[in-house]
Amino acid sequence: MSINLNEQLREEAERLLKIGQYEQVLPLFRELAAYYKACEDYENYVRIKVLMIVCYFNLERVRFVDEHISDIEPYEAFLTIADRHRFYMAQATLFYFWHDFDQCIEMYEKCIKIAEQLPNTAMLTTASNFASIYRDLERYDEGFAVLERGMAKAKQLDPTNSYVQYSTAEVYLGYIANYCLTKQFDKADAYLQELEALNYLQPQAAQMNTFKRWKAIILYEKGLIDEAFTLFDSQFKVMKNQGDYRLHKVHLKIWIDYAAKEGRYKEAYEFATVLNESLEANLEEALLDRSSKYAAELKTKDLRNLAFEDPLTSLNNRRLLTKLEKELADAPQTVTVAVLDIDHFKKINDTYGHAVGDDLIIEMAHIIQRTMHHAQHHCVRFGGDEFIIVMYRPLDQAAAWVERLHETIQSTPLHLNDETLHITCSIGVASVSQASELTTATKLADDNLYKAKDRGRNNIVGL
Ligand code: GH3
Ligand code: MG
Repeated sequence: MSINLNEQLREEAERLLKIGQYEQVLPLFRELAAYYKACEDYENYVRIKVLMIVCYFNLERVRFVDEHISDIEPYEAFLTIADRHRFYMAQATLFYFWHDFDQCIEMYEKCIKIAEQLPNTAMLTTASNFASIYRDLERYDEGFAVLERGMAKAKQLDPTNSYVQYSTAEVYLGYIANYCLTKQFDKADAYLQELEALNYLQPQAAQMNTFKRWKAIILYEKGLIDEAFTLFDSQFKVMKNQGDYRLHKVHLKIWIDYAAKEGRYKEAYEFATVLNESLEANLEEALLDRSSKYAAELKTKDLRNLAFEDPLTSLNNRRLLTKLEKELADAPQTVTVAVLDIDHFKKINDTYGHAVGDDLIIEMAHIIQRTMHHAQHHCVRFGGDEFIIVMYRPLDQAAAWVERLHETIQSTPLHLNDETLHITCSIGVASVSQASELTTATKLADDNLYKAKDRGRNNIVGL
């Protein structure tokens, strides 16, 4: 290949890169890299390799990156300082992708050191990415410390430059996220307003959506509930349309809680469904990928929660009982179990339809959760219209809770589908002196439930 031809190739590659034609530029880069390596021009060789990595990141094909990283490693000394920064950022991202957080953080620390020497926005990008890793690990203090460094640098850069504006907005969004997640909403709001006043956000940019999602949370915490839901609902649609909700697990989790707190169970259910779908899609993708470490992590972390969740009510499902029993194998602790079943539930299904029946089950879950809310109580939907409450209390102490629950259920009118329903339930209770005998307690409580039904329903047996 002649030198001339290569110059033309390189010009064409740079042109394509500038206009974001990443897919088209990759074959040209491949050819150039082979050429530079053959003539031992390692400076250009590593330069091209780093640009290839940038392309792969932009195409979201992270798993193709690692072989280029190993190609660069022997020639690292030939990297310019800016490319060295890109190279370490790529490695940090890859470690994150593999869920190897210690190595990821080590790499980001190297990036920060290099960014310090660069006159551009590298420090801002590094700081906001690094802070998001710390956020994932719930290490907020370290996240704040990194953001401080980004913000200090932002103040020294030209505020009319569009890269500076974009990267500064990222740092602000980092602060807003950190303050929201540490429940310092006033501070989050102050940063939000400052960012809004700066006018750095492009209307259609992804950043604007992130901004609106945090804004909705801040509005809710300020008590502007309707405004908050309107804003989030529109963002929820955007997330669904773009199918990018996988990236926004944090927001969905928060809104499931908010909706449930406001009694907006349909929305809570919808958000939970999307979240669960996204977790499953994430796992599937990770399993298909070479990032098996990540898949294993996801499987144990996110799906661990899914596995114990009842999709209709978001309460725990019956699998939790087996888990609890195993966990409490040696616990010499009294446990009281209450089994609750709605009276004549079939009639509701038959009269008003299955959908109303479902809503009733969701309402019941909410009442149970609200009434029994306690760090040491577990509420489980056992199946159908049957719920189980596990309390680490002796029978006499648990009695008041159970009586209150029974009373609350019969005195709470339920507004479902333009109907007002009054329902009752029957409850069986039993206690054992070892928490490891949870199954025995559940069986005894279930027997008592049958007695309660036998005795005409709407009562408690076992207290
Ligand atoms: P009892 O007082 O004896 O409890 O009478 P019941 O009519 O409530 O009878 P039972 O508890 O045995 O029936 C539960 C019914 O719940 C049976 C099934 O059709 C219905 N069911 C089970 N799962 C669901 C569900 O997810 N949604 C709805 N809508 N119905 C369900
Ligand atoms: Mg029933």
